[in-house]
Amino acid sequence: MSAARTLGLDGPGAGLEWRSDLYRTACAQLNLAAETLGLDPDEHTRLIEPRRSLVVNLPVRMDSGELANFTGYRVQHTLTMGPTKGGLRYAPDVSLGHCAALAMWMTWKCALLGLPYGGAKGGVRCDPRALSADEMERVTRRYVAEMAPIIGPNEDIPAPDMGTGEREMAWFYDTYSQAAGHAVPACVTGKPVALGGIPGRRQATGLGAVFVLEAALERLGRPLADQRFAIQGFGNVGAVAAGELHARGARVIALSDVTGAIADERGLDVAAVVRWRGEHGTVAGFPEAETIDRDALLELPCDVLVPAALEHQISADNAARLRCRLVAEAANGPTTTAADEILADRGITVLPDVLTSGGGVTVSYFEWVQGHQKYNWTRAEVRGRLRSQMREALEEVVTTSEQLGVSLRTGALSLAVRRVAEAARLRAVYP
Ligand code: GLU
Repeated sequence: MSAARTLGLDGPGAGLEWRSDLYRTACAQLNLAAETLGLDPDEHTRLIEPRRSLVVNLPVRMDSGELANFTGYRVQHTLTMGPTKGGLRYAPDVSLGHCAALAMWMTWKCALLGLPYGGAKGGVRCDPRALSADEMERVTRRYVAEMAPIIGPNEDIPAPDMGTGEREMAWFYDTYSQAAGHAVPACVTGKPVALGGIPGRRQATGLGAVFVLEAALERLGRPLADQRFAIQGFGNVGAVAAGELHARGARVIALSDVTGAIADERGLDVAAVVRWRGEHGTVAGFPEAETIDRDALLELPCDVLVPAALEHQISADNAARLRCRLVAEAANGPTTTAADEILADRGITVLPDVLTSGGGVTVSYFEWVQGHQKYNWTRAEVRGRLRSQMREALEEVVTTSEQLGVSLRTGALSLAVRRVAEAARLRAVYP
């Protein structure tokens, strides 16, 4: 196997269509794990490029009466582990390469959390804030109709991601079920509870990250309540994580959203910030705190930095200036490969995204099981199972990293890659 092939990008036949910064990062992480494991080159090759993807054109009637064309994507990284699973993202930078990276990360998340899925990711390139509710509905229903050949409760099960939520999942469920002629609750997760959703799915990614943090800090002998947290992102993940940390007595000293950032060394009243943001549409200007620059949040002195927003936020440009002791990645892909090396040199531990952000898909799995079995779970069952699965995954990642003498990220990737490669080996190549 040539070196170009190993990189999964820079060579003949090596997937020009996936070219994106994010996919480059995902491949670099995979290559490091493959090297650590001494993975068979054929097995490595099978894990680089996504197995299947579909790009569709979505003609959508806008409120103005004009017809607009959107591009929709779905990428399935591996079909080895079961049906594929992963979110549906509506954002201006959605592309095939972007989805390929996010789909690969979903594979590792599911393998680490012991979920019987391969990874997938999809989305529509659009600015959801510029679309009306009716336009969003038409985009979503058209997306479901176009993706019909490759989605389904036993094929590929979408869920919320950036720019989508319960509302879109309800339209997804309705469109799919109407085409099937009967209700198919397991075709999508993150549905409203009234439509077969599961209690606690919306909070699951933020809560899962806090469960991992709690266990990691216990191991380090640093009680969570004594730590100061800075959280980038105040959406579904960041706001929930902030609220859960605050409820456990920790100090959340800084928060940011797309519009601004605030800081207060004494600790922010998270519920009050949620109310303020509800009234003003931004965290900025919250009267009991100092409004700071969004980028400055990452460089504030704190114990734990939680990136819970976009990818590639911690890069070679700012990694040397971070002043935290621990980074807990609640977002997908927030740290570049170069930044990873700088943080490792500086002795800053990173709780990797494939573990820390795995709570969402774990509770999605519970919802999918509920949909198949038609047997409802309680909120307490969801929380209890989520907590134990996140803690167990952390233990396994720490043990693997120690055994292999590598970072937690490479340990997590190595464990996940080993599981998927073993399954691929057992299934063999056929036909
Ligand atoms: N979009 C979420 C993630 O990135 C959840 C995916 C799912 O629930 O399937 O992990």
